[in-house]
Amino acid sequence: MAEHSGFCSGVRRALDLAEKAVQGGKGPVYTWGPLVHNPRVVADLKEKGIEPLTDLKGVPPGILIIRAHGAPPEVFEEARQRGFTILDGTCPSVRRCQRIAAQLAQEGKEIVVVGKRGHPEVVGICGWSGNRAVVVENPAEGQERYFTKPVGVLAQTTQREENFRDVVAVLKDRVPDLEVFQTICGATRLRQEAAVALAREVDAMVVIGAKTSSNTMELVKLCRQTGVPVYHIESAAELCREWLRNKDRIGVIAGASTPDVTIEEVIKVMVDYQRSEGQNIEDMYASTLRTIQEGEIISGKVVRIDNDEVLVDIGYKSEGIIPFQELADKQISSPEEVVKVGDEINVYIMKVENSEGNPLLSKRRADHEQAWAKLAEAYETGQPIEGEVLQVVKGGLIIFVGLRAFLPASQVGLRYEPNLEKYVGQTLRVRVIELDRSRNKVIVSQKVVLEEELEAKRAALWQELAEGQVRKGTVTKLTDFGAFVDLGGIEGLVHISELSWARVKHPSEVLQEGEEIEVMVLGVDRERERVSLGLKQVLPDPWDGVGEKYPVGSIQEGIVTHIVGFGAFVQLEPGVEGLVHISQLANHRVAEASEVVQVGEKVRVKVLDVNEKDRRISLSIKEAAEEKAREEFTNYQEEADTASGITIGEVLGDLLEEKEAEEVGDTEAAEETGENEE
Ligand code: SF4
Repeated sequence: MAEHSGFCSGVRRALDLAEKAVQGGKGPVYTWGPLVHNPRVVADLKEKGIEPLTDLKGVPPGILIIRAHGAPPEVFEEARQRGFTILDGTCPSVRRCQRIAAQLAQEGKEIVVVGKRGHPEVVGICGWSGNRAVVVENPAEGQERYFTKPVGVLAQTTQREENFRDVVAVLKDRVPDLEVFQTICGATRLRQEAAVALAREVDAMVVIGAKTSSNTMELVKLCRQTGVPVYHIESAAELCREWLRNKDRIGVIAGASTPDVTIEEVIKVMVDYQRSEGQNIEDMYASTLRTIQEGEIISGKVVRIDNDEVLVDIGYKSEGIIPFQELADKQISSPEEVVKVGDEINVYIMKVENSEGNPLLSKRRADHEQAWAKLAEAYETGQPIEGEVLQVVKGGLIIFVGLRAFLPASQVGLRYEPNLEKYVGQTLRVRVIELDRSRNKVIVSQKVVLEEELEAKRAALWQELAEGQVRKGTVTKLTDFGAFVDLGGIEGLVHISELSWARVKHPSEVLQEGEEIEVMVLGVDRERERVSLGLKQVLPDPWDGVGEKYPVGSIQEGIVTHIVGFGAFVQLEPGVEGLVHISQLANHRVAEASEVVQVGEKVRVKVLDVNEKDRRISLSIKEAAEEKAREEFTNYQEEADTASGITIGEVLGDLLEEKEAEEVGDTEAAEETGENEE
């Protein structure tokens, strides 16, 4: 049996989701397309009431499970609109491809997906690129493509590595600016490596998996390339006795969508055939059994520690010996630094018996083997692992994850990290992105872990965000039209008009990049993934109580902020502006406001009207000027009166008396001449 075979973590996850959805009993449960490419699994799910859909129209809403292959964004959107509850079973490795495709599209690059045209995973990835990605199945197709822009190339997760490499090689010759994303998933790689390794050791290979399963078909191709006969079956019923005849060793591997029960059935039928052919597999196996074998890892108990060796009881007829240099990878000065008497440890059998009949053991190699096994599992499942950064080397960091692994500088952070020294001694969570035991190569990435954490945070934040909330954020970018603010994974825009109650020419007048601020959520558009924010809404409103501050009839000072055809706007304080209508600019006819005032000029205005609700204030420069003239005249008169010793009342009183006397004189004269008779 191949070392890696059967259900991968992505498929298991999607199946678990389906099981839980049915158990939850909250209405009908559907899957978007068959959950896995395996007719038996799909039939089992149907029996449990889980229906695969390829069209949502006319279907009563229920729970819709997105399969591990993922789906284009339109499917999510339509499902939401039709009232379905979505359980997203997209495999994290596929999700990564979708994110890369979306990012490349956003950057305006051309996108190539190396994969099978029409495969649901490929359809989904293309969908996330806004259907801008082109699919290339093989190097020949790559030769036919022409590109005018920088290109990003990624692989369908179940691609054969060799095919991807060949397509990339072709593209490299044709595209000067090519960015390559290695997106073949860990489970696929391990199965492919295991298939080739096993095929090289056996007389025939049996590959179990659906004919529609992309990863199974790749396993078949790879096994065939080794030259052994390969039999591809979907179930035990297809096994043929003839295939096994006269063959000593048959290898078996199953694709990532093949259930355990099918694998077990195939093995059982094969064993039955062998038995009926007169060979007893169990007997054959038993005859090869030894108590211990070289290369085996077994556990034992430390029974004695000497300066140069450690004795371990492994249940063999004699105790095993670990030579000092086989205790640990790192430098040690005494065995006690690594083991103590009574410890249960794992040991690797280097030699079944030395010249004195003792097994020769190695703890160092056992640790090594276990570390490889742990890394292989982490690689397959995609589970992050922890490791301590040991040193900075050219191009990245060395991190200890049971073995020394390489963390490329480009995979350290979400953005380029110029200072790698600061990581030395730190424990990081990383994912194994490349594992090649034959070349002793382990490459890890912290970036993908951070990206996923960010993605999870983003998803949670999208759920939480609501209009009217006040949230903390960091200003990430200033543009002419506003400021982008990171709310913790999601960026929102504060439009320039929402930055301040006052008029703002450029966001840099109010904010700086990197500044931490509080903003109000003004709008959330989940479909277009847009968030509108407001800064002024969390600041005191200068229009509050403006009527009391600037009463009608009062004279105020302000600054002309801008001039329009019908007048000029005057700022009384930041955020509070009033209009001086053109008719209120001067006491003569004005054709254009600029004849009277200039932007930036300080002016005296009289408040004619205040409408707090509509945020309008009417002002008059003309009336303010008239009032000032009146005031000045009054002052002048008062000063003049004081200087002559005669008050204005007295002057007016004398003038009045003179006038009355004149009128009396005129009347008397008229009576004498009879002018008043009718
Ligand atoms: S084959 Fe790989 S990408 Fe596909 S579901 Fe399995 S783990 Fe995920």
